[in-house]
Amino acid sequence: LTEEEKEKILRSIRTIPDFPKPGIQFKDITTLLNNPEALKLLMDHLEARYRDYELDYVAGIEARGFVFGSVLADRLGIGFVPVRKKGKLPYTTVSEKYSLEYGFDEVEIHIDAFGEGGMCREHPAKVLLIDDLIATGGTAAAAARLIGKVGAECVECCFVLELSFLKGREGIDAPVYSVITL
Ligand code: AMP
Repeated sequence: LTEEEKEKILRSIRTIPDFPKPGIQFKDITTLLNNPEALKLLMDHLEARYRDYELDYVAGIEARGFVFGSVLADRLGIGFVPVRKKGKLPYTTVSEKYSLEYGFDEVEIHIDAFGEGGMCREHPAKVLLIDDLIATGGTAAAAARLIGKVGAECVECCFVLELSFLKGREGIDAPVYSVITL
């Protein structure tokens, strides 16, 4: 992506101050999703980047990771797997906790999401994890651990936006790629 193209994507994302609580600058990607030119630039870029990774699955983090992840999986001709908040997935799940400012949260994945024992054609399934944004990195780190827990391999964690001052990538036990770093 050229700087101009990155700028076009960035300008399509709206910042809402003090949402959902005071002090948070919320990055609203709904305005990127309904901007066909910006969305195509982004998805063309991700498709080109991951075309040769020989991925078996794209896993997206609830909820905005579902959108980018589904589009990318379809473009790459591979399956999509949802990583969801606790209690949403209907079949047998594996879960992973992560701490928040106060207390903890939990993400889950279906135990057979990447095939029996996470195996795909006799090797651990190669999975790309995707979400819209990395802040503290707690959510993505837990999701990446989950992928390993069910026997698959998280080959990279991909984000549209990275809030680099929060140093979230340091807590993730996999390579991290972000399209735009703030
Ligand atoms: P974290 O676990 O702190 O990296 O938070 C990541 C999750 O929270 C992602 O699913 C993001 O969509 C969401 N999130 C955190 N901070 C923001 C923000 N400033 N704007 C939009 N979404 C955010």
